[in-house]
Amino acid sequence: STWWGHVDPAPKDPILGVTEAFLADPSPNKVNVGVGAYRDDDGKPVVLNCVREAEARIAGNLNMEYLPMGGSNHMVEETLKLAYGEDSEFIKDKRIAAVQALSGTGACRLFADFQKRYQPESEIYIPVPTWANHHNIWRDANVSQKTYHYYHPESKGLDFSGMMDDIKNAPKGSFFLLHACAHNPTGDKGHFPFFDMAYQGFASGDPEKDAKAIRIFLQDGHLLGISQSFAKNMGLYGQRVGCLSVLCEDDKQAVAVKTRLQQIARPMYSNPPVHGALLVSIILSDPDLKNMWLKEVKVMADRIIGMRTALRENIEKLGSPLSWEHITKQIGMFCYSGLAPEQVDRLTSQFHIYLTRNGRISMAGVTTKNVEYLANAIHEVSK
Ligand code: PMP
Repeated sequence: STWWGHVDPAPKDPILGVTEAFLADPSPNKVNVGVGAYRDDDGKPVVLNCVREAEARIAGNLNMEYLPMGGSNHMVEETLKLAYGEDSEFIKDKRIAAVQALSGTGACRLFADFQKRYQPESEIYIPVPTWANHHNIWRDANVSQKTYHYYHPESKGLDFSGMMDDIKNAPKGSFFLLHACAHNPTGDKGHFPFFDMAYQGFASGDPEKDAKAIRIFLQDGHLLGISQSFAKNMGLYGQRVGCLSVLCEDDKQAVAVKTRLQQIARPMYSNPPVHGALLVSIILSDPDLKNMWLKEVKVMADRIIGMRTALRENIEKLGSPLSWEHITKQIGMFCYSGLAPEQVDRLTSQFHIYLTRNGRISMAGVTTKNVEYLANAIHEVSK
């Protein structure tokens, strides 16, 4: 017998598998609208100028010492201002337990482990659909999962009444995973809202506006948790820089929670990486660089918003009798197209267009050069 003879290969990740298939396709027409990473109008990855400038400032000066277990305090302070507001009373009152995390994924995972440890009987309610990795994260943290209604297939919009019913019917004290969307009834049942904010600035072009849902919850007096990521809005994908924060009842509780979060991090990865955290803290604490960043976020968001209009217009121009309003009504990096898995398969096999089988189109992969081709293919498979 061998040690690992019983180990089967893992199934392909539904999102990362799409990129692999795309890379292996030799067609010159191929289009990747699978992965959620921003591309410019030439389909190229982008490093923001504010990031290049911050890198130039630290080049040669950076020592390679460890960060503390909770990461860079400076980075965390600046990051909290983005979510809770520049003048947040909660920041002044030191009521927020916060640590640097391994981007948004790491922040979610750290929270899930914390939830399991300190509310072991609690469940997490996850919207349908969601980023597929949410299920894996809470599963590996051994938190039991329920789902709540979010998407309405007919309107291709929000299933508000379905969602409200699920929130009302959930056992008291449940945890709800929310993307940055404006709904606010969880207080009635004493639920705990946990916000995954992976795209602050990408929806409207303005990080302040995109924090609106969180600010409303704060005004309404909720305690909550937030996962923040700089992968998308600062283009720091591979640097793995993010933040987990938990708003507590008072400063004493915040100290307790923070030290427990650090205790969970210690045996997993000890302390987070330094380079990306330094870039973020330089950019957010320097008014010129911060302004540069805000402009660059807006350029990215505006390009995506422009591509939504272009894609919709191009499909409509071909005489499609179906409604494509949802393409421009939805916000953020993705368009949940409503295409069925078989239609997605045809997009890939006939047209070399790569996306996940749930019909999710990454608008960041759409450009002025491929939008007509994409529109035509979508029209063909949806006839
Ligand atoms: N949450 C959501 C909803 C996402 O789409 C993503 C990235 N695709 C993440 C979290 C995590 O991204 P990262 O770990 O790169 O910050």
